[in-house]
Amino acid sequence: MSETIHVVCPHCGKTNRLPAERAGQQPDCGACSKPLFPGKPVEIDEARFHDYLQRTELPVVVDFWASWCGPCRVMAPQFEQAAGRLAGRVQFLKVDTDANPGLSQQYAIRSIPTVALFRGGREVRRSAGAMSAAQLEAWIGA
Ligand code: ZN
Repeated sequence: MSETIHVVCPHCGKTNRLPAERAGQQPDCGACSKPLFPGKPVEIDEARFHDYLQRTELPVVVDFWASWCGPCRVMAPQFEQAAGRLAGRVQFLKVDTDANPGLSQQYAIRSIPTVALFRGGREVRRSAGAMSAAQLEAWIGA
């Protein structure tokens, strides 16, 4: 018997059960057919945010950003690069702070970009200001 893991789809929120050894084979979601470990940041909104964090077993890194923010645009490709390198080990999300003011308020986001690391639904660390892909990886510590 192989070990079964539960992976919450970052796109639609459906929980997928799969054998642990399939995690490295770029599995797709059984509900929406999108990749469960996309290797790039996924936009998430307030409606699904908490549920996703609570049910996701992997560490989750969230970029709180806005389209008018210059440093956010500078960091975006770096964030994407780090997501690619850590695919299958860490999930990467983006929260548009303008579209989701409730989340910005709840997490007291005072400047953007702010990057926060969650484990088991809890914020374990955060950093304000743009980071390079290498800095992000070191900061995440995965
Ligand atoms: Zn899905």
